[in-house]
Amino acid sequence: MSVIYDRVALIGLGLIASSMWHAIKRAGVAREVTGYARSPETRAIAREIGLCDRVCESAAEACEGADLIVLCVPVGAMGDVAAEIGAVLKPGATVSDVGSVKKAVIEAVAPHLPEGVHFVPAHPLAGTEHSGPRSGFAELFDNRWCLIVPQAGSDRAAVERLEAFWQALGSHTDEMDAEHHDLVLAVTSHAPHLIAYTMVGVADDLRRVTDSEVIKYSAAGFRDFTRIAASDPTMWRDVFLNNKEATLEILGRFTEELFALQRAIRTGDGDHLHAYFTRTRAIRRGIIEAGQDTEAPDFGRVKKA
Ligand code: NAP
Repeated sequence: MSVIYDRVALIGLGLIASSMWHAIKRAGVAREVTGYARSPETRAIAREIGLCDRVCESAAEACEGADLIVLCVPVGAMGDVAAEIGAVLKPGATVSDVGSVKKAVIEAVAPHLPEGVHFVPAHPLAGTEHSGPRSGFAELFDNRWCLIVPQAGSDRAAVERLEAFWQALGSHTDEMDAEHHDLVLAVTSHAPHLIAYTMVGVADDLRRVTDSEVIKYSAAGFRDFTRIAASDPTMWRDVFLNNKEATLEILGRFTEELFALQRAIRTGDGDHLHAYFTRTRAIRRGIIEAGQDTEAPDFGRVKKA
Protein backbone atom coordinates (compact mmCIF):
# COMPACT_ATOMS: atom_id res chain seq x y z
CA MET A 1 0.00 0.00 0.00
CA SER A 2 1.37 3.46 -0.75
CA VAL A 3 1.44 6.52 1.47
CA ILE A 4 -1.76 8.61 1.33
CA TYR A 5 -0.83 11.30 3.89
CA ASP A 6 2.75 12.05 4.82
CA ARG A 7 1.85 13.01 8.40
CA VAL A 8 -1.29 12.12 10.32
CA ALA A 9 -2.16 13.61 13.73
CA LEU A 10 -4.56 11.77 16.03
CA ILE A 11 -6.06 14.00 18.73
CA GLY A 12 -7.51 11.96 21.57
CA LEU A 13 -6.00 8.50 22.06
CA GLY A 14 -8.90 6.22 22.92
CA LEU A 15 -10.49 3.21 21.23
CA ILE A 16 -10.96 4.81 17.82
CA ALA A 17 -7.60 6.61 17.60
CA SER A 18 -5.64 3.59 18.84
CA SER A 19 -7.44 1.35 16.33
CA MET A 20 -6.65 3.89 13.60
CA TRP A 21 -2.98 3.80 14.59
CA HIS A 22 -2.85 0.01 14.29
CA ALA A 23 -4.77 0.05 11.00
CA ILE A 24 -2.58 2.86 9.58
CA LYS A 25 0.54 0.83 10.41
CA ARG A 26 -0.96 -2.32 8.91
CA ALA A 27 -1.78 -0.45 5.69
CA GLY A 28 1.37 1.69 5.54
CA VAL A 29 -0.57 4.76 4.47
CA ALA A 30 1.30 7.40 6.53
CA ARG A 31 4.98 8.14 7.01
CA GLU A 32 4.55 9.53 10.52
CA VAL A 33 1.68 9.50 13.01
CA THR A 34 1.69 11.96 15.89
CA GLY A 35 -0.73 11.73 18.80
CA TYR A 36 -2.01 13.74 21.72
CA ALA A 37 -4.30 13.02 24.66
CA ARG A 38 -5.28 15.57 27.29
CA SER A 39 -4.24 13.56 30.37
CA PRO A 40 -0.59 12.83 31.22
CA GLU A 41 -1.71 9.29 32.18
CA THR A 42 -3.02 8.51 28.69
CA ARG A 43 0.07 10.06 27.08
CA ALA A 44 2.30 7.92 29.32
CA ILE A 45 0.38 4.74 28.41
CA ALA A 46 0.59 5.65 24.72
CA ARG A 47 4.37 6.01 24.97
CA GLU A 48 4.67 2.80 26.98
CA ILE A 49 2.76 0.70 24.45
CA GLY A 50 4.22 2.42 21.38
CA LEU A 51 1.01 4.05 20.24
CA CYS A 52 1.93 6.62 17.55
CA ASP A 53 5.41 7.40 16.26
CA ARG A 54 5.50 10.49 18.48
CA VAL A 55 3.26 11.44 21.42
CA CYS A 56 3.18 15.22 21.85
CA GLU A 57 2.61 17.44 24.87
CA SER A 58 -0.06 19.60 23.21
CA ALA A 59 -2.66 19.22 20.47
CA ALA A 60 -1.08 22.12 18.61
CA GLU A 61 2.35 20.44 18.66
CA ALA A 62 0.86 17.21 17.28
CA CYS A 63 -0.93 19.08 14.46
CA GLU A 64 1.94 21.28 13.33
CA GLY A 65 2.90 20.25 9.80
CA ALA A 66 0.31 17.44 9.68
CA ASP A 67 -1.41 16.66 6.38
CA LEU A 68 -4.38 14.93 8.03
CA ILE A 69 -5.66 15.76 11.50
CA VAL A 70 -8.33 13.46 12.96
CA LEU A 71 -10.23 14.62 16.04
CA CYS A 72 -10.93 11.49 18.10
CA VAL A 73 -12.34 13.07 21.29
CA PRO A 74 -15.91 12.96 22.62
CA VAL A 75 -18.38 14.95 20.52
CA GLY A 76 -18.77 17.66 23.18
CA ALA A 77 -15.00 18.34 23.22
CA MET A 78 -14.50 18.76 19.45
CA GLY A 79 -15.06 22.55 19.39
CA ASP A 80 -12.50 23.27 22.13
CA VAL A 81 -9.90 21.06 20.46
CA ALA A 82 -10.48 22.79 17.10
CA ALA A 83 -9.99 26.17 18.81
CA GLU A 84 -6.67 24.95 20.20
CA ILE A 85 -5.24 23.79 16.88
CA GLY A 86 -6.76 26.29 14.39
CA ALA A 87 -3.75 28.61 14.34
CA VAL A 88 -1.11 25.96 13.59
CA LEU A 89 -2.81 24.09 10.74
CA LYS A 90 -0.86 24.12 7.53
CA PRO A 91 -2.57 25.33 4.33
CA GLY A 92 -3.87 22.41 2.29
CA ALA A 93 -4.19 20.14 5.34
CA THR A 94 -7.37 18.15 5.91
CA VAL A 95 -9.14 18.20 9.26
CA SER A 96 -11.50 15.33 9.92
CA ASP A 97 -13.14 13.74 12.96
CA VAL A 98 -14.71 10.45 13.98
CA GLY A 99 -17.59 11.82 16.05
CA SER A 100 -20.80 9.81 16.30
CA VAL A 101 -22.86 12.97 15.64
CA LYS A 102 -22.21 15.18 12.64
CA LYS A 103 -24.36 18.36 12.61
CA ALA A 104 -23.32 19.57 16.08
CA VAL A 105 -19.66 18.69 15.50
CA ILE A 106 -19.58 20.61 12.21
CA GLU A 107 -21.14 23.67 13.88
CA ALA A 108 -18.60 23.47 16.72
CA VAL A 109 -15.46 22.83 14.63
CA ALA A 110 -15.89 24.74 11.34
CA PRO A 111 -15.63 28.29 12.80
CA HIS A 112 -12.13 27.56 14.17
CA LEU A 113 -10.58 26.35 10.91
CA PRO A 114 -8.61 28.84 8.79
CA GLU A 115 -9.07 29.42 5.06
CA GLY A 116 -7.14 26.95 2.95
CA VAL A 117 -7.72 24.00 5.31
CA HIS A 118 -10.15 21.30 4.12
CA PHE A 119 -12.75 20.16 6.61
CA VAL A 120 -14.08 16.68 5.80
CA PRO A 121 -16.04 15.20 8.73
CA ALA A 122 -16.36 11.41 8.94
CA HIS A 123 -17.80 8.68 11.14
CA PRO A 124 -16.50 5.11 11.17
CA LEU A 125 -19.41 2.84 12.08
CA ALA A 126 -17.29 0.56 14.19
CA GLY A 127 -16.73 0.29 17.89
CA THR A 128 -16.78 -1.84 20.98
CA GLU A 129 -17.85 -1.21 24.56
CA HIS A 130 -14.19 -0.74 25.52
CA SER A 131 -12.39 2.58 25.64
CA GLY A 132 -8.94 4.03 26.18
CA PRO A 133 -5.55 3.71 24.47
CA ARG A 134 -5.14 -0.02 25.17
CA SER A 135 -8.47 -1.00 23.62
CA GLY A 136 -7.62 -0.46 19.94
CA PHE A 137 -6.95 -3.15 17.31
CA ALA A 138 -6.14 -3.00 13.60
CA GLU A 139 -9.18 -5.00 12.46
CA LEU A 140 -11.82 -2.73 14.04
CA PHE A 141 -12.73 -1.04 10.74
CA ASP A 142 -12.51 -4.10 8.50
CA ASN A 143 -15.65 -4.52 6.39
CA ARG A 144 -17.41 -1.72 8.34
CA TRP A 145 -18.78 1.47 6.84
CA CYS A 146 -17.19 4.85 7.27
CA LEU A 147 -19.59 7.67 6.44
CA ILE A 148 -17.96 10.76 4.95
CA VAL A 149 -19.86 14.03 5.31
CA PRO A 150 -18.51 16.56 2.78
CA GLN A 151 -19.35 20.22 3.32
CA ALA A 152 -20.83 22.61 0.77
CA GLY A 153 -17.91 23.57 -1.47
CA SER A 154 -15.65 20.78 -0.14
CA ASP A 155 -12.61 20.17 -2.31
CA ARG A 156 -13.35 16.89 -4.17
CA ALA A 157 -9.72 15.81 -4.17
CA ALA A 158 -9.57 16.20 -0.36
CA VAL A 159 -12.81 14.20 0.07
CA GLU A 160 -11.62 11.41 -2.21
CA ARG A 161 -8.24 11.25 -0.50
CA LEU A 162 -9.93 10.78 2.89
CA GLU A 163 -12.16 8.07 1.40
CA ALA A 164 -9.08 6.29 0.03
CA PHE A 165 -7.51 6.54 3.49
CA TRP A 166 -10.51 4.92 5.22
CA GLN A 167 -10.69 2.25 2.54
CA ALA A 168 -7.03 1.46 3.18
CA LEU A 169 -7.93 1.07 6.88
CA GLY A 170 -10.40 -1.65 5.86
CA SER A 171 -13.68 0.27 5.60
CA HIS A 172 -16.26 0.73 2.90
CA THR A 173 -17.06 4.42 2.45
CA ASP A 174 -20.20 6.30 1.59
CA GLU A 175 -21.08 9.99 1.50
CA MET A 176 -24.02 11.47 3.36
CA ASP A 177 -25.20 14.89 4.51
CA ALA A 178 -25.00 15.70 8.20
CA GLU A 179 -28.71 15.86 8.94
CA HIS A 180 -29.40 12.54 7.26
CA HIS A 181 -26.43 10.97 9.03
CA ASP A 182 -27.76 12.06 12.42
CA LEU A 183 -31.22 10.61 11.71
CA VAL A 184 -29.87 7.28 10.42
CA LEU A 185 -27.58 6.95 13.42
CA ALA A 186 -30.39 7.84 15.82
CA VAL A 187 -32.22 4.76 14.49
CA THR A 188 -29.32 2.35 14.17
CA SER A 189 -27.20 3.30 17.16
CA HIS A 190 -28.27 6.14 19.45
CA ALA A 191 -31.84 5.06 20.32
CA PRO A 192 -30.80 1.37 20.73
CA HIS A 193 -28.09 2.45 23.16
CA LEU A 194 -30.57 4.47 25.19
CA ILE A 195 -32.97 1.52 25.27
CA ALA A 196 -30.16 -0.78 26.44
CA TYR A 197 -29.14 1.72 29.14
CA THR A 198 -32.77 1.86 30.28
CA MET A 199 -33.27 -1.91 30.36
CA VAL A 200 -30.09 -2.47 32.36
CA GLY A 201 -31.09 0.38 34.68
CA VAL A 202 -34.51 -1.22 35.25
CA ALA A 203 -32.90 -4.58 36.02
CA ASP A 204 -30.55 -2.85 38.43
CA ASP A 205 -33.53 -1.21 40.17
CA LEU A 206 -35.14 -4.64 40.53
CA ARG A 207 -32.00 -6.25 41.85
CA ARG A 208 -33.26 -6.18 45.42
CA VAL A 209 -36.22 -8.32 44.34
CA THR A 210 -34.39 -10.68 42.06
CA ASP A 211 -31.17 -10.78 44.03
CA SER A 212 -28.28 -12.01 41.89
CA GLU A 213 -30.50 -13.85 39.43
CA VAL A 214 -30.24 -11.00 36.93
CA ILE A 215 -26.53 -11.64 36.63
CA LYS A 216 -26.65 -15.42 37.02
CA TYR A 217 -29.27 -16.07 34.33
CA SER A 218 -28.26 -13.24 32.03
CA ALA A 219 -27.88 -15.36 28.88
CA ALA A 220 -31.38 -14.62 27.66
CA GLY A 221 -31.17 -11.28 25.85
CA PHE A 222 -30.26 -9.19 28.89
CA ARG A 223 -26.57 -10.02 28.47
CA ASP A 224 -26.51 -8.30 25.08
CA PHE A 225 -28.10 -5.20 26.57
CA THR A 226 -25.41 -5.12 29.27
CA ARG A 227 -22.66 -5.15 26.66
CA ILE A 228 -24.10 -2.09 24.94
CA ALA A 229 -24.86 -0.41 28.27
CA ALA A 230 -21.21 -0.79 29.30
CA SER A 231 -20.19 1.76 26.66
CA ASP A 232 -18.29 4.88 27.67
CA PRO A 233 -20.53 7.23 29.73
CA THR A 234 -18.86 10.46 28.52
CA MET A 235 -19.07 9.50 24.87
CA TRP A 236 -22.76 8.60 25.14
CA ARG A 237 -23.74 11.58 27.26
CA ASP A 238 -22.28 13.77 24.50
CA VAL A 239 -24.04 11.81 21.74
CA PHE A 240 -27.47 12.40 23.27
CA LEU A 241 -26.83 16.04 24.15
CA ASN A 242 -25.65 16.68 20.59
CA ASN A 243 -28.15 14.62 18.59
CA LYS A 244 -31.17 15.74 20.54
CA GLU A 245 -33.66 16.31 17.73
CA ALA A 246 -33.18 13.06 15.80
CA THR A 247 -32.95 10.91 18.94
CA LEU A 248 -36.13 12.40 20.42
CA GLU A 249 -37.94 11.87 17.10
CA ILE A 250 -36.99 8.17 17.05
CA LEU A 251 -37.73 7.67 20.75
CA GLY A 252 -41.21 9.19 20.16
CA ARG A 253 -41.87 6.58 17.48
CA PHE A 254 -40.39 3.87 19.67
CA THR A 255 -42.72 4.75 22.53
CA GLU A 256 -45.76 4.60 20.24
CA GLU A 257 -44.78 1.14 18.99
CA LEU A 258 -44.07 -0.02 22.53
CA PHE A 259 -47.53 1.09 23.63
CA ALA A 260 -49.07 -0.80 20.67
CA LEU A 261 -47.20 -3.97 21.66
CA GLN A 262 -48.15 -3.47 25.31
CA ARG A 263 -51.78 -3.21 24.26
CA ALA A 264 -51.50 -6.36 22.11
CA ILE A 265 -50.15 -8.27 25.11
CA ARG A 266 -52.90 -6.95 27.38
CA THR A 267 -55.70 -7.74 24.90
CA GLY A 268 -54.17 -11.09 23.93
CA ASP A 269 -53.73 -10.02 20.29
CA GLY A 270 -51.34 -12.81 19.27
CA ASP A 271 -51.73 -12.03 15.56
CA HIS A 272 -50.35 -8.54 16.11
CA LEU A 273 -47.37 -9.85 18.07
CA HIS A 274 -46.64 -12.62 15.56
CA ALA A 275 -46.83 -10.30 12.55
CA TYR A 276 -44.60 -7.75 14.28
CA PHE A 277 -41.93 -10.31 15.23
CA THR A 278 -42.00 -11.80 11.72
CA ARG A 279 -41.30 -8.35 10.24
CA THR A 280 -38.41 -7.69 12.65
CA ARG A 281 -36.82 -11.08 12.03
CA ALA A 282 -36.38 -10.10 8.38
CA ILE A 283 -34.21 -7.15 9.43
CA ARG A 284 -31.72 -9.51 11.05
CA ARG A 285 -31.57 -11.52 7.84
CA GLY A 286 -30.84 -8.33 5.89
CA ILE A 287 -27.93 -7.43 8.21
CA ILE A 288 -26.41 -10.91 7.78
CA GLU A 289 -26.85 -10.79 4.01
CA ALA A 290 -25.12 -7.40 3.95
CA GLY A 291 -22.12 -9.03 5.67
CA GLN A 292 -22.48 -6.85 8.78
CA ASP A 293 -22.85 -9.73 11.26
CA THR A 294 -22.39 -13.46 11.58
CA GLU A 295 -25.09 -16.03 10.93
CA ALA A 296 -23.69 -18.24 13.70
CA PRO A 297 -26.11 -18.70 16.63
CA ASP A 298 -25.64 -16.34 19.58
CA PHE A 299 -23.35 -14.05 17.52
CA GLY A 300 -20.85 -16.90 17.13
CA ARG A 301 -19.97 -16.98 20.83
CA VAL A 302 -17.98 -20.03 21.73
CA LYS A 303 -19.29 -21.87 24.78
CA LYS A 304 -16.83 -22.10 27.65
CA ALA A 305 -16.00 -25.65 28.66
P1 NAP B 1 -12.36 6.92 24.30
O1 NAP B 1 -11.76 5.57 24.13
O2 NAP B 1 -13.13 7.20 25.55
O3 NAP B 1 -11.21 8.04 24.15
C1 NAP B 1 -11.51 9.40 24.18
C2 NAP B 1 -10.24 10.24 24.08
O4 NAP B 1 -10.64 11.62 24.12
C3 NAP B 1 -9.26 10.03 25.22
O5 NAP B 1 -7.94 10.11 24.74
C4 NAP B 1 -9.54 11.22 26.14
O6 NAP B 1 -8.39 11.68 26.80
C5 NAP B 1 -9.97 12.30 25.17
N1 NAP B 1 -10.87 13.27 25.81
C6 NAP B 1 -11.95 12.99 26.57
N2 NAP B 1 -12.56 14.14 26.95
C7 NAP B 1 -11.81 15.15 26.44
C8 NAP B 1 -11.90 16.56 26.51
N3 NAP B 1 -12.90 17.16 27.19
N4 NAP B 1 -10.97 17.29 25.86
C9 NAP B 1 -9.96 16.69 25.18
N5 NAP B 1 -9.83 15.35 25.08
C10 NAP B 1 -10.73 14.60 25.71
O7 NAP B 1 -13.33 7.30 23.10
P2 NAP B 1 -13.55 6.64 21.65
O8 NAP B 1 -14.46 5.47 21.79
O9 NAP B 1 -12.25 6.48 20.96
O10 NAP B 1 -14.41 7.79 20.97
C11 NAP B 1 -13.82 8.91 20.37
C12 NAP B 1 -14.80 9.52 19.37
O11 NAP B 1 -15.17 8.51 18.43
C13 NAP B 1 -16.08 10.05 19.98
O12 NAP B 1 -16.41 11.27 19.36
C14 NAP B 1 -17.11 9.01 19.61
O13 NAP B 1 -18.40 9.59 19.43
C15 NAP B 1 -16.57 8.45 18.30
N6 NAP B 1 -16.92 7.06 18.00
C16 NAP B 1 -16.89 6.12 18.98
C17 NAP B 1 -17.25 4.81 18.69
C18 NAP B 1 -17.27 3.74 19.76
O14 NAP B 1 -17.98 2.75 19.64
N7 NAP B 1 -16.51 3.87 20.81
C19 NAP B 1 -17.57 4.45 17.36
C20 NAP B 1 -17.52 5.43 16.36
C21 NAP B 1 -17.18 6.73 16.70
P3 NAP B 1 -7.90 11.08 28.20
O15 NAP B 1 -7.65 9.63 27.97
O16 NAP B 1 -6.66 11.83 28.45
O17 NAP B 1 -9.00 11.33 29.17
